[in-house]
Amino acid sequence: MRILPAQALRVLAACGREWQDAGMNGIAGIELGGTKTVVVLGTPGAIEAREEFPTTTPDETLNRAIATVRGWQQGRTLEAVGVGSFGPIRVDRAAADFGVMLDTPKQGWAGADVAGVLEAALGLPLGLDTDVNAAALAEHRYGAAQGCANTAYITIGTGVGVGLLANGVPVHGLMHPEVGHVRLRRAAGDAFAGACPFHGDCIEGLLSGPALAARFGRHPATVEASDPAWHPVALDLAELLAMLLLAFSAQRIVVGGGVSNRQPHLLPAALDRLPGLLGGYLRDCTPAALARICVPAALGDDAGPMGALIVGADLR
Ligand code: ADP
Ligand code: ZN
Repeated sequence: MRILPAQALRVLAACGREWQDAGMNGIAGIELGGTKTVVVLGTPGAIEAREEFPTTTPDETLNRAIATVRGWQQGRTLEAVGVGSFGPIRVDRAAADFGVMLDTPKQGWAGADVAGVLEAALGLPLGLDTDVNAAALAEHRYGAAQGCANTAYITIGTGVGVGLLANGVPVHGLMHPEVGHVRLRRAAGDAFAGACPFHGDCIEGLLSGPALAARFGRHPATVEASDPAWHPVALDLAELLAMLLLAFSAQRIVVGGGVSNRQPHLLPAALDRLPGLLGGYLRDCTPAALARICVPAALGDDAGPMGALIVGADLR
């Protein structure tokens, strides 16, 4: 038997999926973010309709998502709902508290039965993963991480989260990875105490949108790219990239989320500092290779919602 090269196998696999997806009735996808919720109708790879609203209380937010999906169900049979959620949330289907929000710093959400409420109201099979694992799946299938078995997707938004695909499969394990709450070496002379209510200066406490607002004393959107205030932030991101290369042997690290997508200077500034942090230890990580490995999200703000559609579709 002739062995097909990996590239050809990938193309065949992708075509097979598109034929399958073409015959699909439609999936609802819900990306629950710390600031906003995005509800989409479509099939993996094709968003047909989209609603976006602020994430407020669990009741209000989930009811709004339910009303949106029910509206679409009037004209169309949906096969499943896929949810990509901020966390921590129980993603182990076998657990008694599957789909329940755990110790989240987001006010009012700890203990919310996200999956139970959605399943009961919509009567659809429900798939659930973290927002970042969902986004990693979308970037892996359609975006910047195609062909990369070990992929990390970093979101820098309301919080900092990292989705991990090992051999193409989302990592869950004990709960799910919570890389945003790891503490890393701080930039010399950076006295900012950090903004995480649990750990102070963990990665999320240093890099998230609210952490940047606390660090700068104003909204990060108002701080010029050339302002030296960004220097320690770039170093913190570089530490995170170095850790993912070393701990997870990531072949691609996709950097997305509201902060990164709107501050495009941040990733190149982190890349400038990365070789210094690695100290020449990873021989494959030349500056040119690092720029190919650590890339902005190709799907932009659609990575999460498209990932939610994949999570729903993959239930079949
Ligand atoms: P979510 O975390 O709800 O998924 P996003 O990924 O869009 O939402 O991230 C929202 C965060 O992005 C907020 O903390 C906000 O302050 C921050 N943000 C929005 N615009 C900018 C900008 N121009 N520069 C830096 N940060 C921004
Ligand atoms: Zn923390």
